[in-house]
Amino acid sequence: THFGFQQVDIAEKQQRVASVFHSVAQKYDLMNDIMSGGVHRLWKRFTIEMSGARPGHKILDLAGGTGDLTALFSPRVGPQGQIILADINDSMLKVGRDRLINEGLCQNIQYAQVNAECLPFANNTFDCITIAFGLRNVTHKEQALASMFRVLKPGGRLLVLEFSKPIYSWLNKIYDQYSFHLLPRFGKWVTGDAESYQYLAESIRMHPDQKTLKTMFEQVGFEDCQYHNLTGGIVALHRGFKY
Ligand code: SAM
Repeated sequence: THFGFQQVDIAEKQQRVASVFHSVAQKYDLMNDIMSGGVHRLWKRFTIEMSGARPGHKILDLAGGTGDLTALFSPRVGPQGQIILADINDSMLKVGRDRLINEGLCQNIQYAQVNAECLPFANNTFDCITIAFGLRNVTHKEQALASMFRVLKPGGRLLVLEFSKPIYSWLNKIYDQYSFHLLPRFGKWVTGDAESYQYLAESIRMHPDQKTLKTMFEQVGFEDCQYHNLTGGIVALHRGFKY
């Protein structure tokens, strides 16, 4: 029966994640700017700096949602390169596709509806995989990391941009107040949906901290694993290589 309960929890989490992102898709970009004061743009630019992306590279922007990273990668990899914007949620993918087409970015971008836990790509396919604010929502994180490892080329790298643990206790306190009180209110005000932003705060608190995530990278085979704390550890960028 224990196993039975676990199955129910997992199905519930997947449904919750799906309904959250169907619900926020249209207002997702606006909310990101409001909630982070625009700083998410800097975190994403830093991710691109650390990606080593060059003309001709093949990139997987996993849990890519509305395509912020894809838009930044597109000019970097050029017409010979390729980016796959992949997400499990078709509402997010549709908003992303419309937005990228409106920005005139289409020649090197493809779209795929996939689950990060079982990637439908051949072994050794990508030079770089990014997953920004996505791993937190994945139910089986080890399985997802192993799947990413498999589809990376030897020499390729994984970049995980994700909420993490603030490194100062004063910041932690302010941040807890912000995420558990202000954030759901903002969310309700802009999207009419407080619950989704409540989920967001809970999922951030549950997510593994910097060191734990680094160990998870190492356990599935990544090497030279490092993380960079951004904005006092509110967010961290983890990077690991497949050799
Ligand atoms: N990467 C984008 C960004 O940084 O703006 C979007 C991040 S959004 C917070 C998280 C995304 O993860 C959602 O679009 C959601 O559909 C996607 N997601 C959740 N679980 C997933 C899974 N198992 N596989 C692939 N994508 C998933």
